[in-house]
Amino acid sequence: MKKSQDKLSRRKILKTLSSLPVVGGLVGTGLLSPQMMHAAVETPASRNFFKELGIRTFINAAGTYTSMTGSLMSNEVLEAISFGATEYVNLDELQDKVGERIAELLQCEYATVTSGAFGAMSIGTAGVLAGMDEKKVAQLPDSTGMKNEVILQESHNIGYSKALTNVGAKLVWVKTAKELEKAITKNTAMLWFLNANTEQGEIKREEFVALGKKHGIPTFIDCAADVPPVDNLFKFTKMGFDLVAFSGGKGIRGPQSAGLLLGKRKYIKAARLHTPPRGTTIGRGMKVNKEEVLGMLVALETYLQKDHKAEWQLWERQIQLISDSASSVNGVKTEIHVPPHANHVPSLRITWDDTVVKITGDEARKKLKEGHPSIATVGGKDNIGITTWMMVPGQERIVAQRVKEVLENA
Ligand SMILES: *Cc1c(COP(=O)(O)O)cnc(C)c1O
Repeated sequence: MKKSQDKLSRRKILKTLSSLPVVGGLVGTGLLSPQMMHAAVETPASRNFFKELGIRTFINAAGTYTSMTGSLMSNEVLEAISFGATEYVNLDELQDKVGERIAELLQCEYATVTSGAFGAMSIGTAGVLAGMDEKKVAQLPDSTGMKNEVILQESHNIGYSKALTNVGAKLVWVKTAKELEKAITKNTAMLWFLNANTEQGEIKREEFVALGKKHGIPTFIDCAADVPPVDNLFKFTKMGFDLVAFSGGKGIRGPQSAGLLLGKRKYIKAARLHTPPRGTTIGRGMKVNKEEVLGMLVALETYLQKDHKAEWQLWERQIQLISDSASSVNGVKTEIHVPPHANHVPSLRITWDDTVVKITGDEARKKLKEGHPSIATVGGKDNIGITTWMMVPGQERIVAQRVKEVLENA
């Protein structure tokens, strides 16, 4: 096989290329330069994989939900992913260099691409627990003999703290700053903050960071769903959090299985000890492939370069259009709101007088989901919730029309 490949001249390759209906046949044979390879990867326009599998796609009027496969990646990101698939590189070297690049872009000490925000929290915590001690690294999730207590606020318990206990951390719940200080022992490893629940917690971010600094304990903030605003990518490392986690596949629109861990170099270096290619670690299953690493980097670059103001105005117009359409139905009321933290985008809540519009929220959302085209929304028993940021521009018109139809015909 090798011999016959070596014998192929450039002319022969070009001849072969032109005679092949699908040049993809040469991809992976080592016969093509990266540029040729890239050109050779044809988009399978003729195949609709979802249709083949009997899966209905839908308009995402809900938001960045894991179950709905997060966000859609831009062409820039897709190109980076296909490019990544054409050559071998050393995984650690790629992560090192991309980590430096991201740190530079986000003006923080260091960074790494992780397997989602959840993976970032797991390896970040593992890094804090085990440090650079190889024995401890291998020992996790058994954290015996290590500082292993993580203090967090009761109001910040939404389940994602499982990322911490997965690697051997023990959770210590508190309500107030006083309680937090009292809970600190010689076993305290870290303080963990959930940005999404900032308003619900008594201790706010600056005070939380100050408490960490006062007692010499690292602080970690989960910001998974906290872009927009773009400033958040810079704000929390600058505020003094030692570690910051973001989802890759939410507002940044990178690969859904990727994420970012930002912050202090010493903790991120320690976190990396748990990740592939190293094999006997708690993070071995949290692999990020080279395609995702490049995709995440380019998603971030693309996101930073975006005209955020124009995008915000587009979302406002889209939401207004759907709001106007829905509220034109007798008995229907709409409210436009922006959540203060996490999924901080123009959002619509549609409610109605159920003596006039005789349908429940669940039934209305089911009708939207099962209609043509299928539209995914969120909401409760008596309302429909809509955001437009995960839509393909233009789809807001279809959504406006369908919502009106469903409520009108109820
Ligand atoms: C989405 C989310 C996560 C998990 O993020 P992944 O990138 O899917 O791993 C963690 N915390 C919060 C607050 C989230 O919204």
